[in-house]
Amino acid sequence: MSRAERAIDRMKLRIPDNPLGPVLRRHLDYLIRHGYGAESVADSLRVVDHFGRWLGRRPLNAAVVQQFVRRHLPVCRCSPPAPRNSRRNYMALHRLLKMIRPVVASRRPEFPDGFRGRLLRRYHKCLSNVRGLAVGTVRNRLRSALTMLARLRVRRAGQLAAWTPERIEDFVASEVRQHEPATAGSITTATRSFLRFLLQEGHIRRDLSAAVPKFACWKLASLPEVLREDELDRLLNMPDVESPIGMRDRAMLLCMSELGLRAGEVARLELGGVDLDGGMLRVQRSKRGGSATFPIPRKLSKALKAYLRRGRPTCTAPTVFVSHWAPGIGKPIRSVTISVMVKRWVARAGLRKDIGAAHVLRHSIASRMLCAGASLRQIADVLGHRSINTTTIYAKVDLKALSRVGLPWPGAKEVQR
Ligand SMILES: [Zn+2]
Repeated sequence: MSRAERAIDRMKLRIPDNPLGPVLRRHLDYLIRHGYGAESVADSLRVVDHFGRWLGRRPLNAAVVQQFVRRHLPVCRCSPPAPRNSRRNYMALHRLLKMIRPVVASRRPEFPDGFRGRLLRRYHKCLSNVRGLAVGTVRNRLRSALTMLARLRVRRAGQLAAWTPERIEDFVASEVRQHEPATAGSITTATRSFLRFLLQEGHIRRDLSAAVPKFACWKLASLPEVLREDELDRLLNMPDVESPIGMRDRAMLLCMSELGLRAGEVARLELGGVDLDGGMLRVQRSKRGGSATFPIPRKLSKALKAYLRRGRPTCTAPTVFVSHWAPGIGKPIRSVTISVMVKRWVARAGLRKDIGAAHVLRHSIASRMLCAGASLRQIADVLGHRSINTTTIYAKVDLKALSRVGLPWPGAKEVQR
């Protein structure tokens, strides 16, 4: 057996876990039938396997191939095999498109082998007969269900019974992260639909569709109350850091934008809770008590150092931030003052004016964490979800889903009093 043939065998093992699984298998047959040598078959499979992992729920067409080669390959960090030579990628994916074109036109769904295929066939029947959905919708739902089965490595019915709400949340969060915000809604709808089908068929015992977060939300980046990265930079650069008040304001803004603290939490920060050498900051959470310790991000650490050494007036207040104006000079700053401060800098930076002061920074951190790959759990922890008992929806993340998740943010310790 040649090296290339061994490579093909190895690639075959990867097929079941690839979202393009059935297509990938057919493509293998297609290439062999069309007389491609083992070397180029192995090469094509590597390209298509990588492409399939990236593709997820995007449509399969020439424009998406372009997007993959031009935008993804230059920044690709996928685990191997992930060939990055753009010419090789173009050639292999062109062959794939050529093979696929007639099938796309016929709109007949393809099913994988085994348990997954049998399950999806029933789901297909249920979707098209019972609910009378449009053909395109049915196709998307099937694709979504297949992705879910592949990502969660389901091969037998028994594995479905072991699904937990946490597993579903993680799956949805990671799916949503990989796609344009606009598709988030269809991802969650499709996931819920499939979960309801599984319940109906008795494969799962409880209704896990409730574990799928509701959005509105994943449009985070495009929501008006979230600051874009460049807007945030502009805001943070507004205070004049040569002046004591500027140093204070910048440090307070960073507490909110880097750690997602509320205005009240910033106001309550105590000198005794700041450990600049150890790089930790203790935050008094809500009025209900409890505190959380966060690692201090570098930017914030620098700003705090500057303020404490050169900006903060000499006084006996136990809080980090104090008033700089008579008659309250040296008194602990009030949270309403912080809210007004944020509003003022937001206005001066020429950003949208009608946003709710300090909350916008909390929304922004949720959005940035999400984009950077944080899980719902981590976001929940940073936002201190335990103390959120109002209907205010920060970051429009479904807080019911958030409040069920419990792992700590690495380095952050929640301490209940
Ligand atoms: Zn990649």
